[in-house]
Amino acid sequence: MAGQDEQVYEPQKPGIAANPKAYREIELFKTEVLATMSHELRSPLAAIKGYAATLLRHEQRISRAERHEFLLAINEASDRLEVIINHLLEVAQLETGAIKIERVPLNLAFLVREAIFAAEEHLENHQAEQDLQSDQPKHFSFTMHIEDEQGQQTSVEPIIQADGMRLREVIDNLLENAINYSPAGGAIEVVIRPILPRSPRDNDYLQEGTSIQSALQQNMIEITVSDRGIGIPLEHLRAIFARFHRVDTRLTREINGPGLGLAICKHIIELHNGSIWAESEPGQGSTFHIWLPVE
Ligand code: ADP
Repeated sequence: MAGQDEQVYEPQKPGIAANPKAYREIELFKTEVLATMSHELRSPLAAIKGYAATLLRHEQRISRAERHEFLLAINEASDRLEVIINHLLEVAQLETGAIKIERVPLNLAFLVREAIFAAEEHLENHQAEQDLQSDQPKHFSFTMHIEDEQGQQTSVEPIIQADGMRLREVIDNLLENAINYSPAGGAIEVVIRPILPRSPRDNDYLQEGTSIQSALQQNMIEITVSDRGIGIPLEHLRAIFARFHRVDTRLTREINGPGLGLAICKHIIELHNGSIWAESEPGQGSTFHIWLPVE
């Protein structure tokens, strides 16, 4: 009879059940996901509830200016909630293969220019508020240039086959991180350049276990996004592309984020048969590299 009972309660995934280590790892991962997400969701939710309750309870005593401030805080917290939920849904869809990319001819320089313009506009809208909060207002300068095969600046704008909406999401994400993780502001630079098959400098980029090696077989185009921010310690350079991975320092703790942005970027770039990775000098800044096949 005991044997029959065991069969009734047998887990649905016998492959995982047969491997207790993998099963434990999955359980641990689920716990981590729940812990991270409940914290990330709870803090903006608490802000919304707190400000809304204060507005309701003390409606008559609150000045116009205070009411405006509270409403701004509610607005900001709901934006954050929306971003977290959208990121979660997107990661789930990317991992289950529900998102397909649609390749069309795409002018990369045009896409990057639009992304920079949107980032500048976003910063402008928030600048006055930030300058008031901080005794050292932070200012950014954005530049973009295109290089030719010899490393010379060119005005020829490369066209590749890619999904414009998804690629824009990647560039937006990298620019947002560059801004967020540069507490003193500074220069943020985007460069677009061709990568020729098996040029000598490619050896610098060879990395074990990535699709970069296969990238060397064909013509690729590189986009780099560089900042002069806090940088990323060497031991985190790969891990930051995993879901929920954040570098835990006093500075990064001040910036809210569920650690999903780069995981989404990696998925999108890999759907294009490309690669993404980062190099950094802690305290000096970071550069994110994207390689995309030209065709
Ligand atoms: P989030 O920003 O929501 O935490 P991401 O997946 O975009 O999630 O980034 C993961 C982690 O990588 C960040 O928490 C941060 O520690 C680190 N990181 C990403 N971009 C940068 C950058 N430009 N400079 C320094 N650290 C960065």
